[in-house]
Amino acid sequence: AKKTVLGPLIGAIDQGTSSTRFLVFNSKTSELLSHHQFELKQKFPKEGWVEQDPKEILLSVYECVEKTCEKLIQLNVDISNIKAIGVSNQRETTVIWDKFTGEPLYNAVVWLDLRTQSTVETLSKRIPGNNNFVKSKTGLPLSTYFSAVKLHWLLENVRKVKKAVEEQRALFGTIDSWLIWNLTGGTTGGVHCTDVTNASRTMLFNIHSLEWDPELCEFFDVPMEILPDVRSSSEIYGLMKSGSLEGVPLSGCLGDQSAALVGQMCFQEGQAKNTYGTGCFLLCNTGPKCVFSEHGLLTTVAYKLGRDKPVCYALEGSVAIAGAVVRWLKDNLGIIKTVPEIEKLAEEAGTSYGCYFVPAFSGLYAPYWEPSARGIICGLTQFTNKQHIAFAALEAVCFQTREILDAMNKDCGMPLTHLQADGGMTTNRILMQLQADILYIPVVKPSMPETTALGAAMAAGYAEGVGVWSLEPEDLSVVTMERFEPQINAEESEIRYATWKKAVQKSMGWVT
Ligand code: ADP
Repeated sequence: AKKTVLGPLIGAIDQGTSSTRFLVFNSKTSELLSHHQFELKQKFPKEGWVEQDPKEILLSVYECVEKTCEKLIQLNVDISNIKAIGVSNQRETTVIWDKFTGEPLYNAVVWLDLRTQSTVETLSKRIPGNNNFVKSKTGLPLSTYFSAVKLHWLLENVRKVKKAVEEQRALFGTIDSWLIWNLTGGTTGGVHCTDVTNASRTMLFNIHSLEWDPELCEFFDVPMEILPDVRSSSEIYGLMKSGSLEGVPLSGCLGDQSAALVGQMCFQEGQAKNTYGTGCFLLCNTGPKCVFSEHGLLTTVAYKLGRDKPVCYALEGSVAIAGAVVRWLKDNLGIIKTVPEIEKLAEEAGTSYGCYFVPAFSGLYAPYWEPSARGIICGLTQFTNKQHIAFAALEAVCFQTREILDAMNKDCGMPLTHLQADGGMTTNRILMQLQADILYIPVVKPSMPETTALGAAMAAGYAEGVGVWSLEPEDLSVVTMERFEPQINAEESEIRYATWKKAVQKSMGWVT
């Protein structure tokens, strides 16, 4: 059969917390041609600990690449049309491995992991000079969330890690670095690099100079020789060393939230998107300015799309638990058998009947940054049933978004007129409608939900030496938008939100 002729194709590795995906897009239309997904295991070895196996993550990437290529071949697509590959990844998650054997020295410590709570307390007493030492350089509050604290813990507590560092065998990386090093050859010449967006989440990176910061490395006791090279988000890092796509350049790299910002084409100052995955992340592009929040938001690198291109920054509201609460209802309570079932349950209830669910499983992130918080379900009566709890769980995601949107509006001075949404949870229509009701502004979502992967593909296709993606709005010719308008009245929305805030106060101070 004659092979289908298409424009240049670009692949994207989307390595998330809950799954790994490989997707192939047509660079001329942004059409998604094929993809494959692999659900990942999460390990909870102790209360508050969250780990993943770096080898499983790597194998899941290889499997997704190969399976997607097989599907494309079945569709009569010539895979030699794949001109470049981009990487987008869960951020902050920390891997340390042996550069001579390629073996991880410990499981990946996932961003949600809370083991470093006492490390944070100890470190915060040691902050030199004024309390702003870390925040002013990194844009981040000292928290269990970021890589430096996890790395500090590994260096202090894992003998194997300490030894490998002493013997100069250790390499550190976030998931992007671990993947790119392996995909470009690993022990036989793998490239040890990261991009500015991922680097900006380690807490070792100076977001003004765009370099590793020696004072921060000293503060966290991190030897600088284990750190990857920091590159832009769009340039050729190296070539795929094996598999069906051997020789294809890896030329885009963005932390997942930055990738979604690019995928939603939020290139102008003041444009924002909210991604609903395991957690929930609202990012607003602040252009070349580093804006520091007065309301609990983070300052972070949004992207730098080429070596000689300017850097753009973002204000970010991070919510630790969003989709993860649905997975918890399935795995831990068993009130749903599959994740999408929650929509039916919530629809049957149509209300939480006064039940409020604060899923502060990993403490509270923005805007509170309260590690002492833990999850609560309150307002229960004899009448409350699982449908109400399902509804309250979805509502919790919407209330948490309302909190970070309020903070964003205060910091930016210009309220958002609508919310651009994406991510795995946005297939849930009840959630999207609830969100419009609770924000009292329209919520808009793209017909093609894979915005994160699209952003990574765009960065890869735009890179110097690849040059097949222009990043002009007409590139998104196949993406249409769906709109959800607020349907309840503003007063009702405010009352519900005020009760939510009361519930949040009750969740705080559980752990001392
Ligand atoms: P990540 O990038 O963090 O891995 P995804 O964007 O892939 O996350 O979204 C997966 C998350 O979304 C999971 O936590 C899952 O529970 C949640 N999710 C997926 N589909 C639905 C749905 N229909 N309703 C509610 N939650 C959903």
